[in-house]
Amino acid sequence: MSTELHLTGGVAHRTHPEPVRPASAPRPVGLSGTGVRIASRPTPRFTDDELAALDARYTNSPASTIIRWAVDTFGDRLCLTSSMQDTVLIDLAVKADPGIEVVFLDTGYHFPETLETAARVKERYDLNLVVPPAPLPLDDQWMDDPDGCCAARKVAPLERALAGRAAWLSGLRRAETAARATAPVISRDKRGMVKVNPVAGWSDADVAGYVADHDLIANPLLSQGYPSIGCWPCTRKVAEGEDARAGRWTGFAKTECGLHE
Ligand code: SF4
Repeated sequence: MSTELHLTGGVAHRTHPEPVRPASAPRPVGLSGTGVRIASRPTPRFTDDELAALDARYTNSPASTIIRWAVDTFGDRLCLTSSMQDTVLIDLAVKADPGIEVVFLDTGYHFPETLETAARVKERYDLNLVVPPAPLPLDDQWMDDPDGCCAARKVAPLERALAGRAAWLSGLRRAETAARATAPVISRDKRGMVKVNPVAGWSDADVAGYVADHDLIANPLLSQGYPSIGCWPCTRKVAEGEDARAGRWTGFAKTECGLHE
């Protein structure tokens, strides 16, 4: 499917530099896995106080311990979301549950390198990878209304992917941004679901060390000046010394896509 865009349309209020469109942006054909597994156990319910106590109990635990708790607690009502920036969380999670459902949101605007990473990871782990399709035709919405674009291409598909789940695993880390600096390990999200961030306390060095020690697949863009990888129209290389997420939505006040609000 073509992803042709028209980048010279003269949007009056566009203040950010035009991105360089990748030479090719293939659709993730063949990435989808076996899909949703049928829930086979009652959904555990926790009060806010109980979740706070669990967060305090696990906040300094190894990620593998946190994931084991989540898998044992929620079983097939647990899934994992990945942006395919790195594969640390996937590697950790499949060791606890090889069949865990991994959701990768197809915005329609992924770099080819990100789609290739998804394909390689699916093959390496025989991953139960689910890729909700891009929900809208490709257009220039990201230029005019990136919040609306993220809402339609990321947040709404995530809502559908999480439907019927009790909990989800996210690779969010406190070291990524100031806004994430106080992220809990275990909490209740805005949907009322339990959100688990097993690597919340990991530093960039922790991630790099785990990737090297376990010879993980890494998105090649990470070594090409993209320490934070999103959709290609909204991601640029960062200069030496710049914040890792400075290359996201350049020219806009926007710093988050809405998935972790
Ligand atoms: Fe749209 Fe950019 Fe958000 Fe991707 S990151 S969904 S292209 S606004």
